[in-house]
Amino acid sequence: MKNILNAPFMAEMIRTATNMYAHGWDERNGGNISMLLDEAEVREHLTFPAIVRTIPTGFEAPELDGKIFLVTGTGKYFKNVQYDPAKNLGIVRLVNSGTEAEVLWGFSDGGKFTSEFPAHMMSHVARLAVDPQNRVVMHCHPTNLLAMTYVHDLDERSFTRTLWQMCTECIVVFPDGVNVLPWMLCGTNEIGEATAKKMATARLVIWAQHGIYGAGRDLDETFGLIETAEKAAEVYLMIAHLPWKQTLTDDALKQIAARYGVTPREGYLE
Ligand SMILES: [Zn+2]
Repeated sequence: MKNILNAPFMAEMIRTATNMYAHGWDERNGGNISMLLDEAEVREHLTFPAIVRTIPTGFEAPELDGKIFLVTGTGKYFKNVQYDPAKNLGIVRLVNSGTEAEVLWGFSDGGKFTSEFPAHMMSHVARLAVDPQNRVVMHCHPTNLLAMTYVHDLDERSFTRTLWQMCTECIVVFPDGVNVLPWMLCGTNEIGEATAKKMATARLVIWAQHGIYGAGRDLDETFGLIETAEKAAEVYLMIAHLPWKQTLTDDALKQIAARYGVTPREGYLE
């Protein structure tokens, strides 16, 4: 049996959480990550299935029955993940139509998965329906995107267009744009369902006055998606109060999309 702390998925998760903290996106216990694991890979590192305990999830997700996730713990700080992964992270397997989660490893102090577990699991269902290779859902509080939800209107087309205009790469990285949820109470099944609905058409979902959700095929891709949107928001906030002399035109954005072979969200360019 290989040491699970040396598993590539574990190393990547620890590095990513550490890096997100370093970016200032996950103050205190802010933020959470879930990553779908390959059962064969888990079996190389764990006696399977050695169930430590079972936790009710409070929702149904039959699409995820039997699926295994590496997920951050509730109340845990991203800054501490690297020092004690077994306490701050856990591996769970969803069973009984997703109504229960079997802890296979981690949450060693008796803890449990993030309070945003419903939003994560429902988002996995939504993204897997669009892209069977989706594995990661990531939530954090990037400063500039968050700030932008106070001063920019929350219309998704308008919000997306502003971000696209802030840097040439944006339309290449997120041609599907960003969807936006108006403020809702977090930690509930309701915000989970609303987020998942938004995830059907974009891999980035802003939670107004709170933060962002991103989804992708691996941790690097998902991190990079949020990183790029956050950079665009930073540029926007630097120039929002200044007179603009020029911007990226729709024609320029179309040229970029054509050159890089991406399809911008339907109806978002004139
Ligand atoms: Zn949050």
